[in-house]
Amino acid sequence: MSTFLGIPAPRGVGHLRGDRSFPDAARGALADSQLRRNLGHATRVIRGKRAAVVGELDDWEQLRLAGSALKAATMARLDEHLERLEQEVTARGGTVHWARDANEANAIVTRLVQETGASEVVKVKSMATQEIGLNEALEAAGIEAHETDLAELIVQLGGDLPSHILVPAIHRNRAEIREIFLREMPGVDPELTAEPRKLAMAARAHLRERFLRAKVAISGANFGVADTGTLLVVESEGNGRMCLTLPETLITVMGIEKVVPTWQDLEVFLQLLPRSSTGERMNPYTSAWTGVTPGDGPQAFHLVLLDNGRTAVLGDDLGRSALHCIKCSACLNVCPVYERTGGHAYGSVYPGPIGAVLSPQLTGVEDNASLPYASSLCGACFDACPVRIDIPSLLVKLRAQHVDEQRKRAVPSAEAIAMAAASWVMSSPRRFAAAEKGSRAGRLLGRRAGRIRTLPPPLSAWTASRDAPRPPSETFREWWARERGGDS
Ligand code: SF4
Repeated sequence: MSTFLGIPAPRGVGHLRGDRSFPDAARGALADSQLRRNLGHATRVIRGKRAAVVGELDDWEQLRLAGSALKAATMARLDEHLERLEQEVTARGGTVHWARDANEANAIVTRLVQETGASEVVKVKSMATQEIGLNEALEAAGIEAHETDLAELIVQLGGDLPSHILVPAIHRNRAEIREIFLREMPGVDPELTAEPRKLAMAARAHLRERFLRAKVAISGANFGVADTGTLLVVESEGNGRMCLTLPETLITVMGIEKVVPTWQDLEVFLQLLPRSSTGERMNPYTSAWTGVTPGDGPQAFHLVLLDNGRTAVLGDDLGRSALHCIKCSACLNVCPVYERTGGHAYGSVYPGPIGAVLSPQLTGVEDNASLPYASSLCGACFDACPVRIDIPSLLVKLRAQHVDEQRKRAVPSAEAIAMAAASWVMSSPRRFAAAEKGSRAGRLLGRRAGRIRTLPPPLSAWTASRDAPRPPSETFREWWARERGGDS
């Protein structure tokens, strides 16, 4: 069943696609041994913490099932929940804006900031604002955005891109962070060491000044509760809470899938999220706010509800489960492909297994065609996902969609020609036997390594991203004839 939200469903724009395919972008990452060491260490540590706290709960599987069922029920009536959310936020003094895509959302937020007269804003880490490229849009309008999440600050000061949903600077080690701080933080102690406490203190001093002078804050939201109009941000550092309470104006950008119908639903998600993301029983800071309260906190509150391709995803019965994601990042931390390539190779702000299914759906699969192949289909992401998103099945479905799209092309792709040739060979025992014999020439190529690393064009398209096995010295038919003679 699909849900119509009353607005057209344009494809997503913004930071959802890279300028290179995944195999091209991954090649550099695979050759970077420091990056692989940083990633391997960080994901191993988070995996261990998650496994320990998940193992403490006897009802973890029931919680996963509950989370999955709540999400499915919410998606089936998303339009009603969003309207209720709008009604409740408005009734409590907030203003709701609807943005069809990234461009509209950026224009709304930029206008709202300009109306306050502010030339700078503080931000709490938000995937939605990264998705729409808000910082760049604000910069183009002469407004400076200061990231306040520690990892996000490291990425911003380093002129870098985030590479993980939860730990955007996961690809950096402490020594690299120290260098960035020394280079980019005005007034930082030149004796700064790479000790985590010292780095955190330097960041705190840098941010404090910005918190105190900021008139406008911009946040994302982990959840929006429809029946009270309450928005929630969960975080570990408390910097987000400073953004949510100190400035006069708060602007929240929230993907439409983040709505939950009632407070009671949070009982499930606030158990699933911290255990899956940071490996903690509870996240240290959970901030909730409802409209505006005279004399307490921001006195103007705007909620921007972002579609950017989500309605199109919602229209697909299986695909819509990607919208169940609570952005915990557990699937990234267990993915063997992510662990080796890091997040930048995915091109989108959503890396890892969830990115490989969500980004192509938001943009249309032809616009992000290499991502569904960025997986070994080992299934570890499904086992780790707290809301049981069947990522492997989604990957297979998207691959099939891509193949179907290719079939419609007037000029067939090299892959389609290769598959048609393989089908022609395999549909005749005589042709197949001849091809088997012919493949024996390949034994010369893989003599030393036991496998073939480079084939000549056009077969190089295969070996560009994987090895080919060295053909055996004897085919199965030859072995059969030798062992069994003429018996069938
Ligand atoms: S797909 Fe599941 S495991 Fe991955 S980030 Fe989303 S909720 Fe977490």
